[in-house]
Amino acid sequence: MIELDRVTYTYPGASAPILRDLSVQIANGEFLLVCGPSGAGKSTLLRLFNGLVPHFYGGRLGGRVRVWGRDTLACQPRDLADLVGFVVQDPESQFVVERVEDEIVFAMENLGVPPAVMRRRVEEVLDQLAIAHLRHRHVATLSGGEQQRVAIAAALAAQPRALVLDEPTSQLDPHGAEEVLTALQKLNADLGITIVLCEHRLERVVQYADRILYLAPGGRVEVGTPREVLARI
Ligand code: ADP
Ligand code: ADP
Repeated sequence: MIELDRVTYTYPGASAPILRDLSVQIANGEFLLVCGPSGAGKSTLLRLFNGLVPHFYGGRLGGRVRVWGRDTLACQPRDLADLVGFVVQDPESQFVVERVEDEIVFAMENLGVPPAVMRRRVEEVLDQLAIAHLRHRHVATLSGGEQQRVAIAAALAAQPRALVLDEPTSQLDPHGAEEVLTALQKLNADLGITIVLCEHRLERVVQYADRILYLAPGGRVEVGTPREVLARI
């Protein structure tokens, strides 16, 4: 479970907190959609879950963030890599090697996974994301939806309990978006992976979500089932 307990966060140099007194619990196996207008703090909230906030961005964090019992203030982002996989909007900017298969291996090499385990995990995640046929392709030649599925496979290779995705479909056409979202839904349903996804076009994603966390401008937060939250915003 991911637990935020009265979290207040202020970026370095900012005059006011972007998140204020926010408490929420994300259950094991939940699919949570984080939404709200641009600038409301969605990306910031997501960065709390892998420790980039505050360890990479600095600033002041009040309250507690616990990720399956681990206090993110008491450990570094790399100590959370076995719990939380992070996927960004524009995966091409994050790819470090060229071939699909190597990209997935690279993600595990950093974690010191033994070679035999790595080979097995590569097969598993290629299969789980339905991209086995792309394994030898150069990532730059793939469609946006395919690239995003490679990024998800690479994040999944470390066997995290949660995938946290920052607008993973915002640069995709409707077909690519659907490929990515159905892949996530399958990981959630079949493997019980917790999914936390932020998206400003909520109509695209709402059907997949168990709950919505809506960050309103001015710091108001609504959390509930899609039906409850949509009725209030
Ligand atoms: P959203 O994802 O909802 O668009 P963000 O979390 O990206 O919102 O940003 C929320 C606010 O925090 C914005 O006003 C933005 O300017 C500010 N912000 C984001 N990143 C930083 C940063 N690294 N340093 C200072 N301010 C930032
Ligand atoms: P998004 O809305 O997709 O989260 P933004 O366009 O707000 O992205 O921000 C893009 C990048 O710039 C992010 O890495 C964010 O942290 C950084 N950033 C945004 N606002 C500020 C700011 N006021 N000061 C420093 N960095 C910022």
